[in-house]
Amino acid sequence: MTYALTQKIQELKREFITILAEKYPTVKIDNIPFVTNSRLKRAAGRVEWNKATLAIRKVDFSICLFSRYPENLRSTFVHELAHIVQIKTMGYTDHGSYFKAIMASLGETPRTHHQMEVKRKIYAYKCGCGQDHKIKIVRHNKIQRRQAAYRCQTNGQRIDHTTPYVRVS
Ligand SMILES: [Zn+2]
Ligand SMILES: [Zn+2]
Repeated sequence: MTYALTQKIQELKREFITILAEKYPTVKIDNIPFVTNSRLKRAAGRVEWNKATLAIRKVDFSICLFSRYPENLRSTFVHELAHIVQIKTMGYTDHGSYFKAIMASLGETPRTHHQMEVKRKIYAYKCGCGQDHKIKIVRHNKIQRRQAAYRCQTNGQRIDHTTPYVRVS
């Protein structure tokens, strides 16, 4: 999967080297590493750059998100590329109107935030009603810190820090 994702990213890079040469000839991405990153969980992509020298260190793409939403890779790729074009032509970057114009000029709908669902940790608490009650990380943490407890809707049993649980995602 990661290999396929890496391949896709390199294909996009080759494609956009040609497009940039035509539309933004001063912006070169040949020597910038475009890589996958397993630690990006919420962000789809990220450009690492030096604000003093405007050098682009690398561009990361989330393995978590693109293993589940490979169809969204192109949009994120162009989003990160628009950041690079803005940095190289303006010396800064944001999600403003120039940024959006660059994204559009590169053939993508200007998007400032991705729509992909970010995976959250879920815990299943064993209950006497026979069901496992799925509880998301925020509530789970409250339960474990003894700041919250819940009652089963079926049998009224208390679900608290003493209730056995397993992490399910
Ligand atoms: Zn952005
Ligand atoms: Zn229950």
